[in-house]
Amino acid sequence: MHRRTFLVSLGAWALAACDGSGGKPPPSPSPATSPPATATSSPAPTATSTATPPPATRPATPAARLDPTGFPIDPTTRLGLVTGEPGNRTIEWGAGPTAHDYSRDDQPAVDPVRANRCGWNARLHVEYEGQPAVDWYIPPGTPVVATMDGMATLMVNTVSNPFDVYGVSREPYLGNPDRDRAPVVPFPGPGGGQGVFVRIDNDGYRTDVAHLDIAGTILAVPSGAWLDGFGPGSDFPALFRDLQDFRVATIVARWQVRAGDRIGASGDSGYSEAPHLHYTIRRRGFAAALCPTAEPGFDDAGWLFRNP
Ligand SMILES: [Zn+2]
Repeated sequence: MHRRTFLVSLGAWALAACDGSGGKPPPSPSPATSPPATATSSPAPTATSTATPPPATRPATPAARLDPTGFPIDPTTRLGLVTGEPGNRTIEWGAGPTAHDYSRDDQPAVDPVRANRCGWNARLHVEYEGQPAVDWYIPPGTPVVATMDGMATLMVNTVSNPFDVYGVSREPYLGNPDRDRAPVVPFPGPGGGQGVFVRIDNDGYRTDVAHLDIAGTILAVPSGAWLDGFGPGSDFPALFRDLQDFRVATIVARWQVRAGDRIGASGDSGYSEAPHLHYTIRRRGFAAALCPTAEPGFDDAGWLFRNP
């Protein structure tokens, strides 16, 4: 079966970053097959040619929302909360603040313990991992939605989780990046990268939601979106069981989405120390990610809190 397997170019560094490479730039990817620029054309609005201006009462075509706005999950979702002392930390699901409150109050925190208790702090992605992103600890299967209009691409590096594959304890990585106990690269081989992820591109931006659950995510894929013989009946657990270089991904589906459309379900695939959603925003053509939170000091702060 022909596969559109390619090296993930933009975002590879951030991926390594979020995945604990310590911000070191990855080796330059070798030339790879580029994904097609567009697989399908967007549905064009129906244009009617008429000599007279349309009546004022004519329903307006919704304006394209090309800026990422709002949360990729329901902002009222209660997050997992890391509890316990180092060496015995666990996640209590539903015991944390809402995604909205956590992102507003804790993600910009200067206290890394507080900032990381329900995920990874956006600033820490910058300080320790090279690129800003937001992670929320949420139970697998939480619905994930598009934050902007664009072309969605479902890509898979692996459906597995390297912590499980290599038998590495997740505990030192929970909640707080305790680098004394949690080495940056804990695995003897590939770390699995973003696992199952959906990328949305439009004229202005690129967003990624990563570490998705394949079974829940394929339910969001329209029937006409599958590529290369993939489909809802494909044996994804068998096809993508192996861990791969984090820059490698296979395109399995591509379709047009609008902001607010469900695009998948959260999970624990790829380099993920706990079930969570990883979210990044980039300007088109730029490798550097923008800070999704309302963190002071970033020119593009506050993406999550812009009202859709
Ligand atoms: Zn992350």
